[in-house]
Amino acid sequence: MKPLLIPYPKNIEFTGGAPLLPADAPVIFTHTPGLCEEAYVLKTGNGAVNVAASTEAGRFYAEQTLSQLRAAGGLREGLEIHDAPAYSYRGFMIDCCRHFYGVPELKRLIDAAARFKLNRFHWHLTDDQGWRIEIKKYPLLTEVGSKRSGSRFGGYNENKPHEGFFTQNEIREIVNYCAARHIEVIPEIEMPGHFTAALAAYPFLGCTGEPMEPIRKEGIYPNVLCVGSDEAVAFMKDVLSEVCALFPGRYIHIGGDEAPRTRWQACEKCAAKMKRLGLADYDALQGSFIEEIASFLREKGKTAVTWNESLKGGRLSPENVIVQRWMDRDNLCADFTKRGGSVIESDFYHYYFDYPYGMTPLRKAFTYDPAGKTGPEGVLGVEGALWTEYVRTFRDLTEKLFPRLLAVAERGWSGTPGRSYADFTAAVQALMPLLGEGVAPMLPPERWDPGIGKRLKEVTSFFKGPFSADTLRQLLENRE
Ligand SMILES: [Zn+2]
Repeated sequence: MKPLLIPYPKNIEFTGGAPLLPADAPVIFTHTPGLCEEAYVLKTGNGAVNVAASTEAGRFYAEQTLSQLRAAGGLREGLEIHDAPAYSYRGFMIDCCRHFYGVPELKRLIDAAARFKLNRFHWHLTDDQGWRIEIKKYPLLTEVGSKRSGSRFGGYNENKPHEGFFTQNEIREIVNYCAARHIEVIPEIEMPGHFTAALAAYPFLGCTGEPMEPIRKEGIYPNVLCVGSDEAVAFMKDVLSEVCALFPGRYIHIGGDEAPRTRWQACEKCAAKMKRLGLADYDALQGSFIEEIASFLREKGKTAVTWNESLKGGRLSPENVIVQRWMDRDNLCADFTKRGGSVIESDFYHYYFDYPYGMTPLRKAFTYDPAGKTGPEGVLGVEGALWTEYVRTFRDLTEKLFPRLLAVAERGWSGTPGRSYADFTAAVQALMPLLGEGVAPMLPPERWDPGIGKRLKEVTSFFKGPFSADTLRQLLENRE
């Protein structure tokens, strides 16, 4: 039987039935400058384990491989692994806005992700339903923007206040926790859309200046940043200056998705800015704003990441911006990569894990080829995303994420899978104890790949159907 490892190593040699090493076999580490950044070599022989790597990250990944081998039956003599990742970006996204999850829960998720060699934590910190990051210069963002009066997501109705935010000390604590596990944190500060919580705190940031409260439901709202206002744009740069100081990594995510144009269409400041810059339409207005913010970040040594909607303006330069693709019906990402751009793949139908297993079974996530949409050259890496409109408990969150996130970890590290789906699920089952109670419990195996009857039932009850045959096909389609 193949060794039960996730992700599966790039190169592995072993002899079935070779003698087991004693549990206390020594591990001898050799610093080996020639190996690339995250690579490692692991060999067993003569009762010892030999590990080679050129970096602390490589050594850390060898340790994860060792702990998986120990958890799944022990190490055997004659094992030789030469391992390195296919993609440099292997991420997971957690939305702490729709429902708040705090430092202890995040640490458990980070622990779990690190065991499978994921190396980017994309932290969704601001949205219509809550602003979750302390900004010293603008305290109302959290004093007002982190609290909503109730929650009404997907028919669920709770008239109890929901609140929570991360102090700057807590942010640093998470950043350090991640760094110790070779995970870079990418904060997401949404703009110009998904902005109601900020407008609740500082109404002058919007086109109308009208007072409002953080939103209590799911959806897309017209309450966007007034990109025509110099004051509002300067405010966002102040916010980003504090964010850049808190996060030592290279990427800052600035959202850029789902920004309705209705307020801009009725705004004199926005009209004046379009005229001044000679912009043809509102897509171009957003593109120009994103490009301005991306240039600002670049001056601070950071690279902006945006969701793919921002490409509609046609102005984003591949040098300034990384694009995260989730749903791109116009195929603008392929055009972006042709111009030299880099894309992070988070396909809605395969890597969005807030939806039931009936819509996205484990097998469907496993078989997704992230290079299929844009070609391999432009793909920086992969990311599994978990939005939390419908995720009210931590148990539900971990079960939605695991084991599906392991399919992302496998693809991100191995590139083309080096084994069958059956071998992958055998490894998931063997490694389940690593994510048991106290870490991040997984959904039990009988629910990973429901049959078609169950899938229909789960999907229609989740979306409160009924659907047209076309929509259902789209939701269930297994694009292998
Ligand atoms: Zn405006």
